[in-house]
Amino acid sequence: MRNVKVRFAPSPTGVPHVGNIRTALFNYFFAKATGGKFILRIEDTDQARKVEGAVRAIEESLSWLGVKWDKKTVQSMNLKAYTEAANVLISIGAADRENGAVRFKVPKEGSTFWVDAVGEKKIEFNNSEIEDFIILKSDGYPTYHLANVVDDHAQSISHVIRGEDWIPSTPKHILMYKAFGWEDKIPVFAHVPNVLGADGKKLSKRRGAKSVIDLKNEGFLPDALLNYLMLLGWSPKNDREILSREEIEKEFKLENINSSPAIFDEIKLLLIN
Ligand code: GLU
Repeated sequence: MRNVKVRFAPSPTGVPHVGNIRTALFNYFFAKATGGKFILRIEDTDQARKVEGAVRAIEESLSWLGVKWDKKTVQSMNLKAYTEAANVLISIGAADRENGAVRFKVPKEGSTFWVDAVGEKKIEFNNSEIEDFIILKSDGYPTYHLANVVDDHAQSISHVIRGEDWIPSTPKHILMYKAFGWEDKIPVFAHVPNVLGADGKKLSKRRGAKSVIDLKNEGFLPDALLNYLMLLGWSPKNDREILSREEIEKEFKLENINSSPAIFDEIKLLLIN
């Protein structure tokens, strides 16, 4: 396996809920288990959705759980790199300008696929189904797609571990890697299943999903919450349920991530606590 480098890349749009933090933990423990590095990358290029205090809440959630990042980066401090990258794509004909914005031109033929590390399954999209997409907006800020790919490449990210909602973005990202000539640097993708609430719906702040900070304030112990969140979508050997941090560090494997969604069950959390 190449040198492992992973990132948790939240957009600071609010206080992260337990499902968001579960994804951070999978990245963190994968880095720990493989002797790799874990980067916290704040993806704050969508100025309209930025929420005051969100970065603090993300950092507080991770720190309280004992998660340390090796490096932190902030996209809004790196804007020049994205403009330069967009210009490269324009100069080679892979992108064009339209009303001040830059659009990536998706090849109309062929297909784009990868083998996802979760469930070892091939996921394939016909390029004809993928629309051309904006990479740099007329305000000069990059979109998620451009900033995410430029950073993953610049930071030598080896494995992208993120929620399954991002699957439709992945073919776009792979096409961008190819356009830049970075084909041999395409990371391994692992799209982890969602965490659902007791109502069977995806956890969301709007429907009252709790944050790590809510649970901290309710008196839960960090080790118990960490242990419980890791069981949301991952099963250790022998399906054990009470694990120390050290055991998780030793045993975490992408192969053991389940491909079906997990349900956040507060009773189970209480039992572990
Ligand atoms: N900024 C994206 C988010 O808010 C990152 C997704 C990814 O990991 O690529 O989840």
